[in-house]
Amino acid sequence: MSESNRLRIAIQKSGRLSKESMKLLRSCGVKFNINEQRLIAHSDNLPIDLLRVRDDDIPGLVMDGVVDLGIIGENVLEEEQVERERLDKPSLCIKLRELDFGTCRLSLAVPNEFRYENAQSLEGLRIATSYPNLLRRYMKQKGITYSDCMLKGSVEVAPRAGLADGICDLVSTGATLEANGLYETEVIYRSSACIIQSTQTQTPAKQALIDKILSRINGVVRAKE
Ligand code: ATP
Ligand code: ZN
Repeated sequence: MSESNRLRIAIQKSGRLSKESMKLLRSCGVKFNINEQRLIAHSDNLPIDLLRVRDDDIPGLVMDGVVDLGIIGENVLEEEQVERERLDKPSLCIKLRELDFGTCRLSLAVPNEFRYENAQSLEGLRIATSYPNLLRRYMKQKGITYSDCMLKGSVEVAPRAGLADGICDLVSTGATLEANGLYETEVIYRSSACIIQSTQTQTPAKQALIDKILSRINGVVRAKE
C-alpha cells in the first residue's frame, strides 16, 4: 500500500459516537460529504480522508498506523490496550485529549432479586460482558474468581436468558438495566469519547495538520465549557 500524504481519521460509521464525531470535525473547519455506501469520505478543503468503520476497529487501525487519528470511546481504547499488554504487543498510540461526548460507565449489574453486599458477592458467578479484559483486571484487583460469558451484543438479556448470573456493561442513564430487571452494583471504568493519534512516523506536514486540528478542537471544547 502506498503511503498516503493525506491525513486519515477513523470515526465510527454508525452508532452513538458518529454524529458527534462528524460535528466536531466540521466545527474544526473540516468540510466533507458522507456517502452512506462508502467507507472513505474525502474532505473538500483539507488533505484529510475520513474512514468510517466499526468503533471496535478504531484502536487497532490507529495503533497499526493504518490511520493517523481516531475518535473512540476510552472504554474501547482501554480494552484494546489491556489486551495488547496481555499479548505483550506494544500499544502504539497516544491519547491527545478527552472529548465532551460519549460519556458512560462500565458497570457490574445483577438481577433485582440478587442479594449484593460487596464485590465479594460475585465470587464464583458467571458474568456476561463485551469487555473481558477490563472485567478481568477489576476482578483480579479484588481477588474474585468468576467465569466469562463473552457476548458482543445483548449483554443485558444474558441473566434473564439463563446465560449468566450478572453482567458487566456500559451504562449511561440506567434505563436499559431497569428495563431488564437488573441493578448496578459497581462502576469499574468511567469513560467518554477521546481523540487518539498513532505513534507511527508522521510526515512533518501531517503533524502540522494534526496540531492545527487539535488546537481547533481545544478551542471548540473550551467554548462549550
Ligand atoms: P459498532 O457498530 O460501531 O461496533 P457499537 O454497538 O459497538 O457500534 P455503540 O452502542 O454505538 O457501539 O457505542 C459506541 C460508544 O459510545 C461506546 O463504546 C461508548 O464509548 C459510548 N457510549 C455512551 N453511552 C453509552 C451507552 N449508554 N451504552 C453504550 N455505549 C455508550
Ligand atoms: Zn462496537
